[in-house]
Amino acid sequence: MQIKYGLIGGSGRMGKEIELLLGESGHKCVLKYDVLGEWKSGDPEIIIDFSMPQALNNTLGYVKKYKIPLVIGTTGLSEEQLNTLNTMSQDFPIVQSYNFSVGIQMLLKCTEILKENLPGWDVEISETHHRFKKDKPSGTAIMIKNLIGREVNISSLRLGNIPGNHTVSFGGLGEVISITHSATSRRTFTEGVLKSVLFVMNKKNGLFSFNEVLFQK
Ligand code: NAD
Repeated sequence: MQIKYGLIGGSGRMGKEIELLLGESGHKCVLKYDVLGEWKSGDPEIIIDFSMPQALNNTLGYVKKYKIPLVIGTTGLSEEQLNTLNTMSQDFPIVQSYNFSVGIQMLLKCTEILKENLPGWDVEISETHHRFKKDKPSGTAIMIKNLIGREVNISSLRLGNIPGNHTVSFGGLGEVISITHSATSRRTFTEGVLKSVLFVMNKKNGLFSFNEVLFQK
């Protein structure tokens, strides 16, 4: 089955990778929107947004106009924007995640185990990304911090062309345990996007995490 999709941020690093992988899987981009404006060759059946928070109003406009699902990976969204997505999800199915890699879902699961078993230990998060990344700290670091549920320091480095590294460390007196995830290619995110597209196409409404895409029975 060929899916016709709209891509917000189509000219960006992630946009290009998404178009490549979805094209290899037989799906067709029929609408693009980015800083240069709109390009359209047909009506989309789903919107994928990997752009900037400033594009969100336009993205939601497309979702309402065509009455279609949304997969959004854009980071740096405000509390208000996240609340808007939540409200929109009463009428439309939405997958929102600050990280579409399988490995980060495993890092989150391990973090949950460490958090439950190591009360009172120090926790530090560090993240390294390419020099072009606009938001700081990364959305993934914020996800890890939210999971820990208390004030935790995040160190952010911007270096070269690194797609994304995250480490969470728990320190006790006499020992430290660290879990590191390195994305070595953006392909890992785009494979997660494709899984999310297939997952959300048949849903009626609701706000879904990438964890639910992977593990919901
Ligand atoms: P990029 O800078 O290469 O591309 C950004 C794209 O957004 C461009 O096409 C640009 O034209 C467009 N854009 C910028 N401002 C816009 C506006 N006001 N209206 C419409 N379009 C606008 O960035 P990137 O590396 O492709 O990353 C895009 C987003 O995806 C970022 O928020 C990044 O953090 C996020 N990201 C998420 C994941 C994930 O797994 N969730 C993984 C990687 C990147």
